[in-house]
Amino acid sequence: MSGIWLRALTLLLWGCVWAAGVGMTPGWAAELGSPVYFETRYADVYYTDGKALGDFLWRISGRRFYPAEDNAEAVSSVDYLVDRVQSILDMRPDPFKFRVDVLSGYTKGDIAAYLPNGRSIKVYADRVTDGVFAHEVAHAVMDQYFESALPRKVQEILAQYVDRHLWEDY
Ligand SMILES: [Zn+2]
Repeated sequence: MSGIWLRALTLLLWGCVWAAGVGMTPGWAAELGSPVYFETRYADVYYTDGKALGDFLWRISGRRFYPAEDNAEAVSSVDYLVDRVQSILDMRPDPFKFRVDVLSGYTKGDIAAYLPNGRSIKVYADRVTDGVFAHEVAHAVMDQYFESALPRKVQEILAQYVDRHLWEDY
């Protein structure tokens, strides 16, 4: 093989390695505009901005920590809340997995929403509360627990119940 072809092949291979690395980066080194995610037992949490992720975790857990240094804490703060929601509803879908998209820069409209088609929760890190997030997780639980969807009105009443009674027995 001549030198030029060998070089081209090497470049191509490095390109593939690079693309594979970029395409599936579960981790904390988020740069603006390139979403990365971390995986918990129940959720894949996508974010583009490490600060927004920190705000989100703080607002749902009441604790401030740096995800990059404390991955286990970040994972458990999400799963802890999801476990609470499941035990209040007494519904434990299995398997149960959903996606969270952590956004920032809220202006107007819903602070959070569950989208059944993508099994995903979109949430604004700068406005969310633990109750708001739990409300949307309740929608995710109900969506995946029942084979045919509950009437909207019933879902809404149950999700509001979860929000109101989240820490009642604590
Ligand atoms: Zn709702």
